[in-house]
Amino acid sequence: MSEARQNDLPQKPVNGSKIRPVDVVVVGGGITGKACALGMAQLGLQTLEIAPDLGQIVSNPQGNQWGQRIYAFSPSTQKLLSHLQIWDALDHNRMQTVRDMRIYGDRGEKNDHLHLSAFEAGIPQLAWIGESDLIEHTLDQAARFQNKLERIDDVVERIEVDTDGALLHLKKGGIIRAQLVIAADGASSPIRSEIGITASEESYSQSAVVANWSCTYPHLETAFQWFLPGGDIVAMLPLPNKQVSMVWSTSPEHGQELLQLNSSEWLERFSSIANGAITKQLGELTLKSTPAAFPLRKIRAARFIGPTVNPKVILIGDAAHVMHPLAGQGLNLGLRDVAVLLNIFGKRESFRSLSDLTLLRRYERQRQGDTSALLWVTDKLKKLFAGGSSTEKQLRNWGLGLVNKSHFIKQRLIERALGEIDFE
Ligand SMILES: Cc1cc2nc3c(=O)[nH]c(=O)nc-3n(C[C@H](O)[C@H](O)[C@H](O)COP(=O)(O)OP(=O)(O)OC[C@H]3O[C@@H](n4cnc5c(N)ncnc54)[C@H](O)[C@@H]3O)c2cc1C
Repeated sequence: MSEARQNDLPQKPVNGSKIRPVDVVVVGGGITGKACALGMAQLGLQTLEIAPDLGQIVSNPQGNQWGQRIYAFSPSTQKLLSHLQIWDALDHNRMQTVRDMRIYGDRGEKNDHLHLSAFEAGIPQLAWIGESDLIEHTLDQAARFQNKLERIDDVVERIEVDTDGALLHLKKGGIIRAQLVIAADGASSPIRSEIGITASEESYSQSAVVANWSCTYPHLETAFQWFLPGGDIVAMLPLPNKQVSMVWSTSPEHGQELLQLNSSEWLERFSSIANGAITKQLGELTLKSTPAAFPLRKIRAARFIGPTVNPKVILIGDAAHVMHPLAGQGLNLGLRDVAVLLNIFGKRESFRSLSDLTLLRRYERQRQGDTSALLWVTDKLKKLFAGGSSTEKQLRNWGLGLVNKSHFIKQRLIERALGEIDFE
């Protein structure tokens, strides 16, 4: 029996609406929210997931058309998805393993180059590249067969927190009482604002232009990244069937210009940057999707639990932290939030309620270090490569070459990118 039913929670009508009690509400229908809701239900907790985009099951990507949202998934994400029994159900023909990463400084010279290799690190792969829809579809399928999980297609308009939990007022008129609320409602998190958690926010004055390409040379299971003079960053991530997914971080104005290019103009653009290294590496590129642009910013919530009095809400994913995509880690970090939550609630002492302050504090404490370190590193890298002075340029190019010679530093960089998590 669910904890909410065991508890004597108030079910009095509020303005004529009957209040529905559940153990946990997860707000948000992105990958973080979906994975978290499934995991909490698998722990036996009566879980309700609420988001406006939960009405339809995301369809399984098929054929030659590849989705627009393509991510690098770290081994920590693979571990979580395996724990949720999702990983083996994915169509692995649509996932590309990454065995090497090659990062070039803005002179495009061989000496200014950092090479991270799974072989040298003694691991099978550094990451996988795949479509967001592939993961979402598989999570949707698993949710259908999880009887402790219910999903509703709605929007949380207002939240009231008291000593017993939280009341959530939904747009379509429903009212939910939950012992614990997990906010996975994205970078602009309305829940974060409503419970009074402040967030520091900084725009990078950049957009990321994404598009998929087929290439005539094999990508050799390698993720390439070029830091260009002026602060642009071009990443080419390998996909199955001789394809690559591009993420080009640039000024918003240049981003708009890139969106208007025709095929031959794109090829001219590629040959004019990084001394033509992109085409030398990947051969002739053919556009396979409509390019799209996303604004880039850094956000960090001041607290990951709230409100200050009677905290009953936990922030996860982009609701808690948003970073530059240059390290391909934003979602992976959010899924590590989920892994830590599942560990904490999986080992919850029987005398503790779901919103026991000790549990919430454990979560916040355990997520501080990983979040701060990744936000700091991606931010500093972004700013270091945006600096235009000749000293800065020399320093960073020299730094890349130097790091490349140090097995020890490279091993530490790989460990950070893998993102260690464990399920006990
Ligand atoms: C160009 C680009 C490339 C990236 N590449 C990578 C990568 O390679 N690897 C990686 O790990 N990360 C990457 N990221 C980061 C990644 O996209 C995000 O970290 C991730 O998508 C965040 O997921 P989320 O579930 O936390 O939030 P979102 O996906 O934003 O989901 C938020 C959800 O909340 C719902 N919602 C909002 N308000 C309400 C409300 N009031 N009531 C109910 N529901 C609500 C929304 O409808 C939505 O379902 C990249 C980002 C960009 C921009």
